[in-house]
Amino acid sequence: MNERYEPKSVEPRWQARWEEAGAFRAGRRPGAEKRYVLEMFPYPSGAMHMGHGRVYTIGDALARHLRMRGYDVLHPIGFDALGLPAENAAIKDGRHPGERTRENIVAFRAEMKRLGFSFDWDREIATCDPEYYRWNQWFFLKMLERGIVTRREGKANWCTGCQTVIANEQVVEGDRCERCESPVVEKVIPEWAFRITAFAQELLDGLDGLGEWPERVTTMQRNWIGRSDGADVDFAVPGQAPLRVFTTRVDTIHGCTYAVLAPEHPLVEKVTVPERLAEVRAFVERMRRTDVLERTGEGAPKEGVFTGAFAVNPFTGEKVPVWIANFVLAGYGTGAVMSVPAHDQRDFEFAKKYGLPIRVVIQPARGERIAGPDALAAAYPDDGVLEASGPFTGLTSAEARRKMSAHAEAKGFGKAEVRWHLRDWGFSRQRFWGTPIPVVYCPEHGMVPVPEKDLPVVLPEKAIITGTGEPPLAKVPEFVNTTCPRCGKPARREVETMDTFVDSSWYYARYLSPRDATRPFDPAEAKRWLPVDVYVGGPEHAVMHLLYFRFWHRVMRLLGLVQEDEPCRRLVTQGIVNGPDGRKMSKRWGNVVTPGPMVDRYGADTLRLFILFAAPPEKDIDWSDEQVDGLFRFLARVWRLFHARQDCFGTSHRGGASAPPSPPLAPGQPHPAAPALAFDAALAQAAGDALELRRRTHRTIKRVTEGFEAELKFNTGIAALMELVNALYAFEPKADPERAAVREALVALAALLAPFAPHVAEELWHEVLGPAARARLLADEPWPAFDPALVAADTVTIAVQVNGKLRGEVQVAVAAGEAEVRALAEAEARVKAHLAGKTVRKVIFVPKRLMNFVVG
Ligand SMILES: [Zn+2]
Ligand SMILES: [Zn+2]
Repeated sequence: MNERYEPKSVEPRWQARWEEAGAFRAGRRPGAEKRYVLEMFPYPSGAMHMGHGRVYTIGDALARHLRMRGYDVLHPIGFDALGLPAENAAIKDGRHPGERTRENIVAFRAEMKRLGFSFDWDREIATCDPEYYRWNQWFFLKMLERGIVTRREGKANWCTGCQTVIANEQVVEGDRCERCESPVVEKVIPEWAFRITAFAQELLDGLDGLGEWPERVTTMQRNWIGRSDGADVDFAVPGQAPLRVFTTRVDTIHGCTYAVLAPEHPLVEKVTVPERLAEVRAFVERMRRTDVLERTGEGAPKEGVFTGAFAVNPFTGEKVPVWIANFVLAGYGTGAVMSVPAHDQRDFEFAKKYGLPIRVVIQPARGERIAGPDALAAAYPDDGVLEASGPFTGLTSAEARRKMSAHAEAKGFGKAEVRWHLRDWGFSRQRFWGTPIPVVYCPEHGMVPVPEKDLPVVLPEKAIITGTGEPPLAKVPEFVNTTCPRCGKPARREVETMDTFVDSSWYYARYLSPRDATRPFDPAEAKRWLPVDVYVGGPEHAVMHLLYFRFWHRVMRLLGLVQEDEPCRRLVTQGIVNGPDGRKMSKRWGNVVTPGPMVDRYGADTLRLFILFAAPPEKDIDWSDEQVDGLFRFLARVWRLFHARQDCFGTSHRGGASAPPSPPLAPGQPHPAAPALAFDAALAQAAGDALELRRRTHRTIKRVTEGFEAELKFNTGIAALMELVNALYAFEPKADPERAAVREALVALAALLAPFAPHVAEELWHEVLGPAARARLLADEPWPAFDPALVAADTVTIAVQVNGKLRGEVQVAVAAGEAEVRALAEAEARVKAHLAGKTVRKVIFVPKRLMNFVVG
């Protein structure tokens, strides 16, 4: 063994050994319980960034730990390989996106391997392979049959310069094209959509069962799905169609003093009086160019203009002025609201600003009264009891909502209504590097789906990607020109491709049988492995990806492919790795640190240890050269420790007769259950400092183990390992029991390090156990177990007497009370024998010393 810690000579060797042994293949322990550990798969850009480094290191530590706990672990990886960046690059240099993507995958895979991630590489997938995306097409056809895929009118960003639809992320400065800087306008075009709204209630209800997801994420999904229970009410507008408002507070309608339309509402042009038209149009135009978040955000000032029109409140017959305002959106509800300033803070601020009347119609239930309109400092938004509300006065808000909705329905001017924030998922894109949508257009038969047997519809080898004009696929005649599956006459293929969120909606299931040529995946494998037990990824995916992923799983259940409702049990969202200056890493700040050069400099183990030690997974971390240096020095210190304590595990102490060489694990062989820690007879004689060391070892095992459970706290586990190393340096073994205690500590240390710094852990493990361990990898070894008696913070021995005669003793925590000691004492075999068949008349307990059972 080298005295110097040189990761370069250690890491590639163990990576090769793991690969040879197939150590990370899922399905090696068919008899064991399964665990599916998944990280969000990467888009293969040229080099890995630190965010990738973090997400895969977190998942890998978990996967390695679970394998050592005896589970059959599935830990797959693949590439989210279709998408815009490759296409944009192609616009610049004319290379086929496929060519570039393949190169990137090769580079990316090599980087991942250097970090020692324990992936089952046999299951690797890339979504740009026709063998993958053909199943996107298959799902499309199945959903089309069931009406889950529809064709609708959708709004798109149209670049007036490029003459093409561009993505939201390509629109800069509100309304400019990122590429040509021409104005971008909204254009209505036909598009394909998944009817995710048909699943809205299910997706909402399902959130209740996701107790192991971060609450932040489920809350975001809840809001995004956004169920509102309320009522539609029609306000008559003379000479026009009625103005339909949606409100969740119809109980306050007698306090309505004005109505507000979204600037985009079709009625705006129709109701605005001629003398106000210019001002209204200018406002509408300005709003059209303002970002939605900016318009409606928490701190955004409320602003609007009066249209000059009035609408009639059907409950009171009163005319109220009609305004337009920034905070009402066309896409929510009906795009029109009734405003009740006394009972809605937003309406209150608006009314104060524009001098609109305020009328109180709700009072708190318990005899209190809120201030009158003039003295009111803020809206009173809570439920209460109605006043000044005609026949509904005196009802509670809840009763009133029910009765007033029914009244509106009976009178024909409204009804109870549920509205959703969730919209259908428009997924057609005018791009090249995506899954072709498998339909053709026949002059005679219109849209005709491509028959299943003709899948996949493959992307052409030739790509004409200019970023302007028609969609790229339309420019490849060999692709476009085809025949109608029904009549065989000439027809044109759909030239739009699918949103790449389609690819990531079900990839976790493809890993289950990635080479299956007859179906998307094997349902029997799904039964074995799903749902995903732990999913690790960035919190930025809270609503789009993670909602589509849940939606798709439900579609797969409808198709009989999976059995459960939800795709994933536990979600871990990891924080960001910032630059050394605490700012987000960016070329602009010159603070980018990437994994590759760090592995060159320090080795993968140090980088992994830094990532896991800097903070718990969900917290942001700042890159720190000093901390990375410190962790490298820690590993070097561990390395030297094993070297310095070779006398503790020299030949005479190695395993000996009680620890026969362990054979390599064959596939299907059960995981060794017995922890291999305490097989030295000499350990039993450890006393004084040696016993103290043993206690520390077992407490460390407990702390590291707990760091993998409930809340993930790898950092406290690693801190415990550091303390153990300090203790080992401070301890000078002289006799056999002491050497045995050191040996026990070192064995535990190597095993506990394995999920964090797997290469150095393997090396040291094989060093400490010698020939006994040579054949079996640490990755296959059981996770160490702790002895509960040794982990109690401080323990004392209590003598147990029966009628004054010593019959046994028990080890308990210093603080243990009478009941705890009694329970332990009664369980002692000899004590039990002496108590059998007798009645305990009295128990004398002297804390920390003695317990005497007086029996008769
Ligand atoms: Zn443009
Ligand atoms: Zn036809």
